[in-house]
Amino acid sequence: MNANASFSGARRPIDWVNAVFLVVTPLAAFVGTFFYAWNHGVTWLEVANFIVMFALTSVSVTGGYHRYYSHRSYDCSKAVQLFYLLFGAAAVENSVLSWAGDHRSHHRFVDTAGDPYNILRGGLYAHMGWIFFKDTRDAKTRERNVPDLAKDPLVMWQHRWYLPIVIVFTFALPTYIGLIQGRPVGGLLWGGFLRVVLVHHTTFFINSLAHLYGARPYSLKDTARDSWWLAPLTFGEGYHNFHHKFQADYRNGHRWWQFDATKWWINLLRWTGQAWRLKRTPEPLILRARLEVQKELVARRLAAARASDRMWEKISRRLEAGSARLQAAHEAYVQARAERRRRREEWTADLRREWDTRLAAHRADYKAALESWRAMLRAMERIPQGSA
Ligand SMILES: [Zn+2]
Ligand SMILES: [Zn+2]
Repeated sequence: MNANASFSGARRPIDWVNAVFLVVTPLAAFVGTFFYAWNHGVTWLEVANFIVMFALTSVSVTGGYHRYYSHRSYDCSKAVQLFYLLFGAAAVENSVLSWAGDHRSHHRFVDTAGDPYNILRGGLYAHMGWIFFKDTRDAKTRERNVPDLAKDPLVMWQHRWYLPIVIVFTFALPTYIGLIQGRPVGGLLWGGFLRVVLVHHTTFFINSLAHLYGARPYSLKDTARDSWWLAPLTFGEGYHNFHHKFQADYRNGHRWWQFDATKWWINLLRWTGQAWRLKRTPEPLILRARLEVQKELVARRLAAARASDRMWEKISRRLEAGSARLQAAHEAYVQARAERRRRREEWTADLRREWDTRLAAHRADYKAALESWRAMLRAMERIPQGSA
């Protein structure tokens, strides 16, 4: 059966449960919380209820539903899995079985009819419009791309008991916390409604904004984009171009300085022995992807400038030589760095000094190759339109 046709063709009927929930919750969240605060004030516990519930449910979606269950980018303990299933359900974005099924289709069929939140159907549709329509596929078709999850008893338990878990963890728990101060309604509004709506829309931003605005440094093949400003709002999921290119990587912001709270959370799990086998893309592969994009952009510029065959050939030769040199220097540097890290403890002080010098030389060589590559790209940017 062609899964590609699943979301196209005849109009799907409206899913009234979803539609009412998506319209009523923002009203309760914004109007309800505003009037409650206006009449009864705000307590520190209500703000804490909101922040803690927001953090726990967000990380269960990004670190759990997304990076663990949908992409299997690391392994974690049963305790962490249970946490993800309970608080992930509290985000009210469906059971993980359905969520991951949709998400894997999104990656597999991105920007086509088989993509459940296909951005080419418009920003609003990708953001939340798609949730207003019933998924008319049968259970077998829906579970076809999640056979691993369908075999996981914990996942299937959450799928079966999804609604009771939602009621307890989304609404009863924050209400109970509010009860500590004798303000159950305040608890329900801050930790329940307001929090759910913000988790919803920050998750939805990834399907809308992260496919509309930002740079594409790693791949030009689809609409996924990296945006540093979206990352803090989404626990690090804003680096979406990297994520679509290297979806098995447990990081979305792969550089140490890129804001990726989910990556830090997974590292925290690793340090405490709760997560292991974190998948990382080898650095040379990341560099190669970037160079491919940069070469493609130069090629597009040459095509727009209607460059002659001679010019194409000359520039291609220079680009190939420059990128090959950069990749070789980078590979040597990465290897030397890994070797030093691996064996540093065994070495004598003299050997350590020798390796430090060797590493510094590799680093300098890599930096020089990078600088000359960048200079070459800057020169290409000056190719006049229409030159031959
Ligand atoms: Zn993904
Ligand atoms: Zn995407």
